[in-house]
Amino acid sequence: MGEALVVDQEGFRIPERFVARDAVTHELDRLHASLQAAAQEIAANRDAVTRQLGEHYGAIFSAHLEMLKDSKLQGEIEDLIRQQHYSPEYAVSRTMRRYAKVFQLLDNAFMAERATDIFDIEKRLLRHLLGRRREELSQVTSPVVILAHNLTPSETANLNPKFALGFVTESGGPGSHTAIVAEAMQLPAVVATGPFLTDVSGGDRVIIDGDQGLVILQPDEETIARYQHAAEEHRTLAARLESLADQPAVTEDGVRIQLYGNIEFPQEVEMCRRRSADGIGLYRTEFLYLNAGAEPTEETHYDAYVKVLHDMQGKPVCIRTLDLGADKLRNLPSPEDERNPVLGLRSIRLSLRNVPLFRTQLRAILRASLHGEAQIMFPLISNLQELRQAKMLLADVMEDLQESQVSYDPNIKIGMMVEVPAAVMLIDRFVQEVDFFSIGTNDLIQYTLAVDRGNKDVASLYTATNPAVLRLIRTTIRAADRAGKPVNLCGQMSGSSMYTMLLLGLGLRQYSVPPAALLEIKRVVRSVNIKQCERVARRVMQMDNPPAIKNYLREQLKLLAPELVS
Ligand code: PEP
Ligand code: MG
Repeated sequence: MGEALVVDQEGFRIPERFVARDAVTHELDRLHASLQAAAQEIAANRDAVTRQLGEHYGAIFSAHLEMLKDSKLQGEIEDLIRQQHYSPEYAVSRTMRRYAKVFQLLDNAFMAERATDIFDIEKRLLRHLLGRRREELSQVTSPVVILAHNLTPSETANLNPKFALGFVTESGGPGSHTAIVAEAMQLPAVVATGPFLTDVSGGDRVIIDGDQGLVILQPDEETIARYQHAAEEHRTLAARLESLADQPAVTEDGVRIQLYGNIEFPQEVEMCRRRSADGIGLYRTEFLYLNAGAEPTEETHYDAYVKVLHDMQGKPVCIRTLDLGADKLRNLPSPEDERNPVLGLRSIRLSLRNVPLFRTQLRAILRASLHGEAQIMFPLISNLQELRQAKMLLADVMEDLQESQVSYDPNIKIGMMVEVPAAVMLIDRFVQEVDFFSIGTNDLIQYTLAVDRGNKDVASLYTATNPAVLRLIRTTIRAADRAGKPVNLCGQMSGSSMYTMLLLGLGLRQYSVPPAALLEIKRVVRSVNIKQCERVARRVMQMDNPPAIKNYLREQLKLLAPELVS
């Protein structure tokens, strides 16, 4: 709950900022300079377009120019600065948005389209006023709720949790890496809302409810009180769950479940340790890239891995090799040029095409392996050949290290992620090639259902309860069990207590979850017996409707642990 900070599509930050009384004249001058610069730009556009495309098209810009020069509009902006002492940026944004809103509400498609023209003019003015694009969100210095068109995973990772109370994005999806980072940082967030930023101004009060996926603009007193109460309950629940931190994850009938943590940053190990995690089941090492301007060196990799291994004090740490690409990649050969980056050169494919980069990481992992119980895991394996190629490279790096008399753990365990249906279809072959598996449902759902995990328009289709996904999970667990190979599930699904019983019933005995979810999952594990979970799983596997399955699982959880169901 807090004041809105609006970051629009072009990334302008428009806080509700005031200017000092004696600065008003200067600020008005700034406004006039930007109006003049914008007018010159529009006139130049008009002339160029008229020359190239004819007067008909040039007229669009003549209309922009007229709007910009409208004395009523200019007067309104000036008044906000002169009388209310708003900054010109805020005054421009507020006035233009008000105008745009009027057009949008007209019951006339042609006129509604004119709102786009107004936003275009607003952006032009803001560009001149601010002189640069996206301001550094990490520089925020007072508590705000960030309302953005979109945030990249690295922008999210760089938010200062002291001031960023949470965020909302118009685009994205719940399975996106931005959402995953938010969870890692324990930032309340709602994603994929669709357009709404034109309805808010910086400084408006806003509540975001990450549990329900709700954004409440300008809440009334009653709603504020209700949410204050809910937040208090959240804190009480968290404190109660904290009492489980030292307890083992054992079911009522005595089956010990392994609970691992998923981490993106070495600092997250601390919470895993405090909550007695059995190890790190997924270390997303690509996050070493996200905050770095340059490519991480072998030493950067090594230092991060040694820190995590040390801090985990001999418990297993599964280091996943770089899973760059799709929405995670920033500074490697650009998938922006790819028509469909999710199906393109990402993850293990990218590593195998960038052998020096891959070898650097493998060397660092192997060198670090002496400092604890390291494991290596390859992501997004979709055929046997690429797994073998990755293993060959690893063997090659081992040989190099031996030759240069650098020590490492020669028995390091090698695993793969199961995140592509093809890997499940061939699971009987893969069991012969690796020491362990980790099911990545975030991608498995995406690739099974042909639903981009970061696309808001198909977010409702992105569901773990689709029976096809559940069958693939069951097949993988069974095949791994038969071969005596450990298997865990590290997608977001394992961190949601709604699925804990179902997964136990499907035979899962190892969960890798965001550190924030460790206690909730432990709470469920410690309250159930396997027979009961198997009954739940049998029932679910007979159902065919994803929302009905979700409801059923929610009801089951409610019977067991009502405090976990909001
Ligand atoms: C997954 O796909 O489920 C997974 C854990 O990997 P990531 O979310 O990093 O793609
Ligand atoms: Mg994945």
